[in-house]
Amino acid sequence: MFDLHEECGIFGVFGHPEASNLAYLGLYAIQHRGQESAGIVSMSDKKLYNYKNMGLVADVFNKDVLKNLPGEAAIGHVRYSTTGLNEMKNIQPFVVDYSMGSIAVAHNGNLINSNIIRDELEAHGAIFQSTMDTEVIIHLISHSKQRHLKEKIVEALKYIKGAYSLLFLSNKKMIAVRDPSGLRPLVLGKLNDAWVVSSESCALDLIEAELVREVEPGEIIIIDENGFQSYKPFEKVKETFCIFEYIYFARPDSIMQNKDVYEVRKQLGRQLATEQPVEADYVIPVPDSGIPAAIGYSQEIGIPFELGIIRNHYVGRTFIEPRQSIRGFGVKIKLNSLKKALQGKRIVLVDDSIVRSTTSKKIIRMMRNAGAKEVHMRISSPPTKHPCFYGIDTPSKDELIASSHSIDEIGKKISADSLGYLSIKGLRSAVDRVSSEKTDCYCDACFSGKYPIGCPKKQRKEQLELFKQISMKK
Ligand code: AMP
Ligand code: SF4
Repeated sequence: MFDLHEECGIFGVFGHPEASNLAYLGLYAIQHRGQESAGIVSMSDKKLYNYKNMGLVADVFNKDVLKNLPGEAAIGHVRYSTTGLNEMKNIQPFVVDYSMGSIAVAHNGNLINSNIIRDELEAHGAIFQSTMDTEVIIHLISHSKQRHLKEKIVEALKYIKGAYSLLFLSNKKMIAVRDPSGLRPLVLGKLNDAWVVSSESCALDLIEAELVREVEPGEIIIIDENGFQSYKPFEKVKETFCIFEYIYFARPDSIMQNKDVYEVRKQLGRQLATEQPVEADYVIPVPDSGIPAAIGYSQEIGIPFELGIIRNHYVGRTFIEPRQSIRGFGVKIKLNSLKKALQGKRIVLVDDSIVRSTTSKKIIRMMRNAGAKEVHMRISSPPTKHPCFYGIDTPSKDELIASSHSIDEIGKKISADSLGYLSIKGLRSAVDRVSSEKTDCYCDACFSGKYPIGCPKKQRKEQLELFKQISMKK
């Protein structure tokens, strides 16, 4: 379970007659956060209705399905998981019946102490329906002896460690929660009289809702017929927002922590040009993830930006090559080179990150085949040396090329004429340049190895102590 890494997006709306249709649109906008399954739960006349399935949002939902999700409130979830545990039973939102009625939950993030809690709950007779860490939260809520839902949630979350942005829907309320470190994003919006909560602000733009503010780290927002209430029941801890959202994961048209993601990416490119300059004829991005940083690099260094690679946008994650006899197209299925732009040219190739190094190796080979004279690879983040335990899908440490190879060795492996990464200091200062509001409030553990809230194995002893306290309360 510890290596169950998740990439997810959540979206919710309360107080709108078209709630499930808006949730559908919202999920559509954050589809990049998870492409394997999608689900929506709506609430009407104090009853919950839900539909979820494997596939993209557009494949899972249609007019008839949405008609069967009535009511003025709805929450939704998109998910991508890599561990083969992508079965129906793991699709969110989860809906469970408990002493106070029904409740649904949608989670973006990853809990680092969930199997310890799970073992403990199972030892006390709990029966789990899924293999997801999120279900642990629901069990803790239903085990709580507190009288009100808010208190039950607060009590449950006091036992939880990890990254979580959560949306709950009960038969009366929608509740949004962000973990005290604020690791994963969550924003609050308004559409006329309706409240909207989303992983990313680009979903608010789509439904023409106004971005009100971030859901703050450690904040619980309860929305019901009587309006909106905010609570901060958790002990304050250092804020550590995921810096990788800025580098790669979020959509560039989103605003996170009051910073425009596109602007941040351009600043990363500018900083990269300052730290890792090179003489060349063109700056070329790896599409689409490298585009904003390549623009920034080109603007800072004064070398023209060119599109040397074109991406086919219709290749999904599950693409299967048709027949063995015509196999072996590799990266060309997804990307093709513009030969005229590359022939005889010295190229700076810009991407946001190198994970295993397979992509950059193939692209560099493709550029050389297209006639490029030199290919200098520049990466708008520091070397990815450590796995993420907080909700971004990354392979294990031994598969991360930078955990076992020096930059020179990686450069040789991908056959680049030179390879340069952004420094951790440069990353932070580029992010800070976009708005001076907050500094020193980021997680950069996948680069630095400094996990702000610990990583799974180290938590066990401490958690068993917590359980003694739970058992004593019962
Ligand atoms: P690799 O071939 O393993 O080195 O992958 C590098 C590519 O994966 C880069 O072009 C990145 O944009 C992209 N990438 C980086 N992190 C992730 C992630 N967590 N999930 C999916 N793609 C990623
Ligand atoms: Fe984000 Fe990296 Fe921290 Fe994970 S380890 S939360 S990807 S910065």
